[in-house]
Amino acid sequence: MLSKLNEVQDFCKKNAIKMIDFKMIDISGRWRHVTIPVDRLNEDVMKYGIGFDGSNYGYAKVEKSDMVFIPDLSSAQIDPFVQTPTLTMIGNVLVIDPDGNKPFDQYPRNVALRAEEYMRETKIADSMIISPEFEFYVLEHVSYECSPNAVAFTLDTSQAEWNSGVNDYNNSGYHIPLKSGYHITPPHDITFDLRSKMCLLLEDWGVKVKYHHHEVGGPGQLEIEVELGNMTEMADKTMVIKYVVKNAAVAENKTATFLPKPIFNEAGNGMHVHMLLMKEGKPVFYDENGYSGLSQEAHWFMGGLLKHASSLCALTNPSTNSFKRLVPGYEAPVTIGYATSNRSAVIRIPAYAKSPEAKRFELRNPDATCNPYYAYAAILMAGIDGILNKIDPHENGWGPYDFNLYHLSEEEQKKLTSLPKSLDEALDALEADNEYLTRGGVFPKELLDRWIRIKRAEAEAINRIPHPAEFAHYYDL
Ligand code: GLU
Ligand code: MG
Ligand code: MG
Repeated sequence: MLSKLNEVQDFCKKNAIKMIDFKMIDISGRWRHVTIPVDRLNEDVMKYGIGFDGSNYGYAKVEKSDMVFIPDLSSAQIDPFVQTPTLTMIGNVLVIDPDGNKPFDQYPRNVALRAEEYMRETKIADSMIISPEFEFYVLEHVSYECSPNAVAFTLDTSQAEWNSGVNDYNNSGYHIPLKSGYHITPPHDITFDLRSKMCLLLEDWGVKVKYHHHEVGGPGQLEIEVELGNMTEMADKTMVIKYVVKNAAVAENKTATFLPKPIFNEAGNGMHVHMLLMKEGKPVFYDENGYSGLSQEAHWFMGGLLKHASSLCALTNPSTNSFKRLVPGYEAPVTIGYATSNRSAVIRIPAYAKSPEAKRFELRNPDATCNPYYAYAAILMAGIDGILNKIDPHENGWGPYDFNLYHLSEEEQKKLTSLPKSLDEALDALEADNEYLTRGGVFPKELLDRWIRIKRAEAEAINRIPHPAEFAHYYDL
């Protein structure tokens, strides 16, 4: 890892680097970038940074939009997707202040770092270790014009027609039927090599891959899982993973999407987040006598996640499409509860993770339309609230639910609490329940207000668009 300016400059010379590329995160969780010729990477850039307009990132009003980016040399990596040899890096974002520039408190990376700091202040743990799982579809190039029609197209056409339509791959003999792609081998698994390429590119970028495989979704649903790591570092890696997956697909004239529910009647894309806490080198969540090997602290942490599950959704599932995934029958969670090995509950405790260091659970509702820094920070804050207030999930009637929650009678279903059914419902929940996020100054109130405003406008705009499915249902009424 490079850390000093002269080391980076030497590296650039040795590797004939021509451009230096700075990547910043906008409020929605997209990378944006600005690029300088390699000779301009000097002491001044390191000290005074590169100015940019924060209003176009969704952060500020135009009249207060000047921000400054300061590169973090230790994050430098060669971008493998561009022709001009380019070194790319992330960094910190500051706001201009007469008393001296200050770290921008709404910048996603700063929110995540502050959440970790707050965790240490509470003495609950020294680190939160997480591992998100990445599910996505690789499709042929789909244009915005084409994709809504494709949704309508699937309403009353067969899977064979669907496969030969939008997602053909010229592979007519070996289509994968609906929901039948799990761990499927070649010749059906035609993206096998592409996934391996993605994983090797990730390893080069410093992201350790656990494994990759074809997922359940018949037409090209794939998954990459990575090794666990510290929370903010994993948010950085989430950005890298999405960048690598999308660009590697584009390099093969395909497109990758993390959209939670791109295809009607087919498995959706989740981004389940596994988590555990460490304190003084010891795992906080392990107790061999506890339910499923989990300690009291782990139970309280889960209690916090379950208590705040609805408001959390506004940050972990912040698209209108997110709620089309959270429906019964597709291994996505619908019920606020916890269980061992049960994919229909919001929290699943994997039965295979038995050693004290690996003892953990996964939150299953998140999806990759989130801003990972806000999502992971919010998860940590909800868990901390659970521990501080000793919120026991069992005493609150949230489980353990060790049975299939999709197969309940209507009566039984009524006794359980469901996740929000829409982005608006999740935003209502966040409006009513956000004190746990603002503690320790982690989520500034201004950021939450801005987030709610932006997401409400997004939902309202989408709701006004006539949907192709409305043609199918109502055109001839
Ligand atoms: N694709 C499912 C989801 O939407 C999850 C499948 C799995 O458990 O890996 O969350
Ligand atoms: Mg997985
Ligand atoms: Mg999966």
